Amino acid sequence: MSLKVNLRHLEEDAVHLKGELPAAELDLGVSDELIHLGKPLRYDLSVELMHDAILATGSLLLPLECECGRCLKKFKTELKLTGWAVHLPLEGEDKVSVENDCVDLTPFVREDMLLNFPQHPLCKPDCAGLKKKSSASKAEAAEKPASDVWAELNKLKIK
Ligand SMILES: [Zn+2]
Repeated sequence: MSLKVNLRHLEEDAVHLKGELPAAELDLGVSDELIHLGKPLRYDLSVELMHDAILATGSLLLPLECECGRCLKKFKTELKLTGWAVHLPLEGEDKVSVENDCVDLTPFVREDMLLNFPQHPLCKPDCAGLKKKSSASKAEAAEKPASDVWAELNKLKIK
């Protein structure tokens, strides 16, 4: 599957593009140790021919496997662009390149994915980072009620 749209088809009617693009083909070129790309980009776009331009709108979703920049926990997230839109002129200085009647949307998807790429992945916005003494004692306090429950259960067993 590729993110190409044929102008001849567009002349007849709007085209719906839905599918997956391998991460390798998206080729984001990011070298962040904390963010791993493996899963394909999922796209669901509708493309129509305007006057002298192509308009593509829809949603893009790229699953990411991250490591939290503070606590190093692995977590999954996704880069999601809903209401994504790109307007590509077919005339003039900024006109989009057309090859065999086809326009490749991949570079525009790549660009917007990069613009929205997470800079400092965190497992949660208020991640406290690696456990320090103060947070460890907090965790102990939180465990107390649980151990009380076990004590109660043990009492029941004895009966
Ligand atoms: Zn974290």
